[in-house]
Amino acid sequence: MSSAVGAKTVQEEIYQGARILEAAGIAYGMRDARRLMTAALGVNTDRLTLHLRDDLPEAARRLFHEFCERRVQREPVSRILGGRLFYGRWFKNNPHVLDPRPETEILVELALLRDFETFLDIGTGSGCIAITLLAERRQATALASDISGEALTIAKENAVSHAASTRACFVISDWFASIEGHFDLIVSNPPYIHPDEIPDLEPEVRKGDPLIALTDHVDGLTGYREIARGAQNHLSENGRVLVEIGSMQGQQVQNLFEQAGFVDCAIHQDLDGRDRVVEAFAQKT
Ligand code: GLN
Repeated sequence: MSSAVGAKTVQEEIYQGARILEAAGIAYGMRDARRLMTAALGVNTDRLTLHLRDDLPEAARRLFHEFCERRVQREPVSRILGGRLFYGRWFKNNPHVLDPRPETEILVELALLRDFETFLDIGTGSGCIAITLLAERRQATALASDISGEALTIAKENAVSHAASTRACFVISDWFASIEGHFDLIVSNPPYIHPDEIPDLEPEVRKGDPLIALTDHVDGLTGYREIARGAQNHLSENGRVLVEIGSMQGQQVQNLFEQAGFVDCAIHQDLDGRDRVVEAFAQKT
């Protein structure tokens, strides 16, 4: 970005930043410019308005320009800021974990509709699902697994930030390989994108999210096969499974769970009306 002649106000810088982002093809340039400005200034989003008429200090100006430049290169805002809000709480993230998505909040909502005390989160990533459930259910305890040790490092930090670390255990596991115990609920947002679709993903996703969190390199269904196969041995009586799915996978995933002997399987939609979660119950004994 070219440097400004003379100091500009925060508002002027935001407008200029938004124009540059939009010219680079970023859809929500103004929204992103505002968020990047709050980070450059070190203020809360709800305080930004109070600073709009101030001259932007030089250090913050440089930082804001650097952030805008990174955004032009299609780095997601959450990566630039080092975290994002999920279900109203701030989750740190980095290139080792999937950037939490708002669609995943629907899985949390569904989990909270019923009672549970113990739960397992397979492929926890940033820990956003497990830690949110622990924060919402103060009596619950969790086992959170991931195949990536780097992911677990971030998840543990997030658990500490949300005072959930004493009720969470973290374990490196390839699906159920190192999982022991029984749980009232098993949740997962596995890598479900078909490898053929990876080249068509938005640059933010391709560049921002680790491939291991996006695809199984097979057909996008490996996680569901593993969970349908392994979950029965780790669920309490009347235990429940909730898995996030790609919007076109509902029927296939429901079939996998039904074939594995689960009952009362249901497909739930996200706020955009797209299939997003499959729910299944352990066979009553
Ligand atoms: N929801 C992510 C996306 O569509 C994919 C996450 C996943 O594979 N679990 O970009």
